Amino acid sequence: MNQLLDRLANIEVEAKEKAATVKSDEDLKVARAYFLGRKGVVTDLLKMLGSLPSEERPAAGSRINTLKVQLTTRFDSLENELKSKGIDKALGEQVDITLPGRVANLPGSTHPVSQILLRMEEIFTGLGFSIFEGPEIETDYFNFEALNVAKDHPARDMQDTFYIEGSSEHLLRTHTSPMQIHVMKKAKPPIRAIFPGAVYRRDADITHSPMFHQVEGLVVDENITMAHLKGTLTEFLHQMFGGDFAVSFRPSFFPFTEPSAEVDIQCMMCRGKKVTPTGEPCRVCKQTGWMEILGAGMVHPAVFEAVGYDPKKVKGFAFGMGVERIAMLKYGVSDIRLFFENDIRFLRQF
Ligand SMILES: [Zn+2]
Repeated sequence: MNQLLDRLANIEVEAKEKAATVKSDEDLKVARAYFLGRKGVVTDLLKMLGSLPSEERPAAGSRINTLKVQLTTRFDSLENELKSKGIDKALGEQVDITLPGRVANLPGSTHPVSQILLRMEEIFTGLGFSIFEGPEIETDYFNFEALNVAKDHPARDMQDTFYIEGSSEHLLRTHTSPMQIHVMKKAKPPIRAIFPGAVYRRDADITHSPMFHQVEGLVVDENITMAHLKGTLTEFLHQMFGGDFAVSFRPSFFPFTEPSAEVDIQCMMCRGKKVTPTGEPCRVCKQTGWMEILGAGMVHPAVFEAVGYDPKKVKGFAFGMGVERIAMLKYGVSDIRLFFENDIRFLRQF
């Protein structure tokens, strides 16, 4: 009996010491086999039980079993500790916390032309304008005739207009101005609205695209003057381009406005000085100091007559501008075709 109990006490101490030295899966495997294996020390102890007097066997057997359970529990928890240490180590190798974070690959963003269009809509709605959209396939009447564009006007030339095959009446609208007619035919003054949308012309080079976008504007009421036109467009341009710069109104001609004006802003590149800050001749404004932005004018009496308004009672102003042109000037893009190539390297810059 004493021999077995001495051995048991030694093994209990030995087990504690061994457990403290286990550092790897391999150490654990060896320790487990040494204590709990088929030829391990616990098996030896159980074998020794047979040599004990029968009245001493239950107490000794119970003590050996307790040791077995304790050892099994200890080795199992050691195994779990090693496992989680292994996971930490594996993660530690992959994550270098000193590296900059990875930027999430965004699923998409707003196209630069749409960004400009949305900003324009935001500014005009802030000035009290409503937004209306209309058809891209128009009749000759809405696109030209009602807008006082004479039959022999160069804009009607086959070179400029896409006609629908088999029809001389239907065409892809060459401007958003037909919306002036649609709205005035349906509504009574006062009108304060913009009409954004795609327009089509047979024209293609670095500053012209066969499809591009315009925003048309129309204000009709009693006592509307050129001062309202100048005030509205100056405020729009200051908000659109940001800052305090000169705006110029140059006499011009459009069939559907009288008087008409081209509206220019001071060159954003040279600030009207015609030379860049580094002393080179400014190419953006071709050394004029100005950038042409949009066309505008007072609504022609013939247009009011075409929609059944009395030109003696109502006055109004209209304006139209190219969305891509404003995007090019605002973002410094020199080739309009870049907007439609969908090159992700270009689009990511906005
Ligand atoms: Zn310039």
